Amino acid sequence: MTRPDAPSPAVEALFQDVILDHYRRPRNKGALAGATATGSVVNPTCGDEIAVEIALDGDLVREARFTGRGCSISQASASMMTGAAQGRTRDQLGETARRLEAMLRGERTDAEQLGDLRALGGVARFPARVPCALMPWRALALALGRQGHA
Ligand code: ZN
Repeated sequence: MTRPDAPSPAVEALFQDVILDHYRRPRNKGALAGATATGSVVNPTCGDEIAVEIALDGDLVREARFTGRGCSISQASASMMTGAAQGRTRDQLGETARRLEAMLRGERTDAEQLGDLRALGGVARFPARVPCALMPWRALALALGRQGHA
């Protein structure tokens, strides 16, 4: 029942370690002094809450931080998202969010481009948890003014 492009068990274990590490030691967590935009999302299914604060420099995200609580996937994804967002433009982040969503929905995408975010790929096997992984990106999209689209 393995797909031809499924990661090997060793790679999958490594990815799980990455998620656990971000959950236990979240990066960029806490309020952002000098934030210029914010977005927050609640996932009623498992009670996840994520608020993202960003400092924009034109179209570029100079800094991104998050606050929130919830399941390991939502918190780890928020930690990874803030790291991925910093130093990237609105358009680059829209593209990353589309790729991530495609990967999580099991659609074909150039996952190589996702870098560390590929660690979330295993979530695709648990459709109920996909919203947990995407919600930090929805919060970022709200902060970036793309209402409704991650
Ligand atoms: Zn969750």
